[in-house]
Amino acid sequence: MIIRNSARCLNCNDEIESKHRHDFVVCSCFEESQSLYAIWQDEKAGIYGGVDKIPAYRYKEAPVVTGIGVDGGHEYLRRIGKPELFHDTSVIDRGAQSDE
Ligand SMILES: [Zn+2]
Repeated sequence: MIIRNSARCLNCNDEIESKHRHDFVVCSCFEESQSLYAIWQDEKAGIYGGVDKIPAYRYKEAPVVTGIGVDGGHEYLRRIGKPELFHDTSVIDRGAQSDE
């Protein structure tokens, strides 16, 4: 069973923990990079809303998407983000499973 459902982001070093089933938690660099990426995609598609607020138009390459999310609490392990972007710090009790 899942004792602790958590991971550490290797970019911002936040450790985040999902404490119950629908507790979707993200690290601090996740939202910023996601919004920059969304704006970059809009600009690429010719939609120029919001560029005065976030200077994403400076990017010629796609902004690097960083950050992670965890979800599932003690029921399941769900991860948002590439595996190389985080270190899983979950605690799983395998002793509770059937004997083999
Ligand atoms: Zn992060």
